[in-house]
Amino acid sequence: MGRTCMPSLPDKSTELYRPTFAEIDLDAYSRNIAAVQGRLPVGSRIIAVVKAGGYGHGTVELARRCAVGGVAMVAVALLEEAIEISSARIDIPILILGALTPPQIEVAARSGYAMAVVGPESLRDVCDVSARTGRRCKVHLNLDSGMGRVGLIRDDLDAAAELLSRSPEVEVAAIFSHYATASRADHPLTARQRSVFESMLATLRARGVSAPLHHMAASAGVMRGLVEPGEFVRVGLLLLGAESLDDGHSRLEPVLSWRSRIARLKRLGPGNFIGYGASFETRRDSLIATIPVGYADGYDRMLSNRGEVLIRGRRAPVAGRVSMDLINVDVTGIEGVQFGDSVTLLGRDGDDEISADELAEKLGTIPYEVFCRLSARVPRLYRSGSQRWVSSKFNT
Ligand SMILES: *Cc1c(COP(=O)(O)O)cnc(C)c1O
Repeated sequence: MGRTCMPSLPDKSTELYRPTFAEIDLDAYSRNIAAVQGRLPVGSRIIAVVKAGGYGHGTVELARRCAVGGVAMVAVALLEEAIEISSARIDIPILILGALTPPQIEVAARSGYAMAVVGPESLRDVCDVSARTGRRCKVHLNLDSGMGRVGLIRDDLDAAAELLSRSPEVEVAAIFSHYATASRADHPLTARQRSVFESMLATLRARGVSAPLHHMAASAGVMRGLVEPGEFVRVGLLLLGAESLDDGHSRLEPVLSWRSRIARLKRLGPGNFIGYGASFETRRDSLIATIPVGYADGYDRMLSNRGEVLIRGRRAPVAGRVSMDLINVDVTGIEGVQFGDSVTLLGRDGDDEISADELAEKLGTIPYEVFCRLSARVPRLYRSGSQRWVSSKFNT
């Protein structure tokens, strides 16, 4: 985000922004960190994944809470995201999970970032850079234990071990893998991946390659208890309160709420059309509210005539198509509804809640994508204790 208004600014600082915010409760994030840490076995610690703008919650703001919350390390996908954290002068080790080009490896090595080895070419590039520059490179070796995505496969291990033996400046700080099916109870691949990982570790050890640290489970793996004592975990979604800790029983606190205000409220008799394509027609005396949020903000157009929002604690269905900047909702029968009322697109209002899971289910996707779609056009309103501040790509 381009500009950050610091917490010292008065509340008025939010007045010049559009009245649509993603509200992010950083204290809830910190409580979630503590709750997850409390559930881990002895010696296990958290690597907090804050890639993709912290899944829309803000990479820098989340990383700052990690640094004071006892998190061992933060992980991102891109060099750019690592630089974003360092530029904010946040003192926490950073792991880059994604593939890097040789010039990027040089920058990462100079900056002290740990780099995931995504394949044999990636290992060769890291070794080349360290040999050429004499710089120490810290790597986390990714082993593909059966997900079939990134990582070294069994056939790569001999050459990898041989190359590492000739690369004294390359430090194997960790060896890790990633589950493909941990979100499903008892999928047979999960146990198979664990045993493949163990056997690949043994193969590497026999060739002189080992690491002081292993990590395998992400949020779903932690939820299923797939964590060995001493192993670290890489968790993103879990800390955002959008994944249960034990398959549905103890959910953590959702961190993000997406809210707007009614910008237009009108009474229409039966037989009136709403929105592009005239896909909704009023069938009764109706009260229709227009909300200044659209698909350009990340409110998916597939929610046309399907989504629901909360107003005065009650559900109001989306009426007609989602436009780029606007949606209409049917608020007929909601007692006392007024121009300017608060609208909850995601989050809690009164006794009801629209969760990222609910939106994801309606869209045939996962909560990760619901969060990642929240566009930079939506200002982020951070809360911590009594402090509030806005981060936005726009200057006001
Ligand atoms: C994104 C990512 C994670 C975090 O996954 P969550 O399900 O959000 O916990 C962990 N590991 C890797 C390799 C990832 O790319």
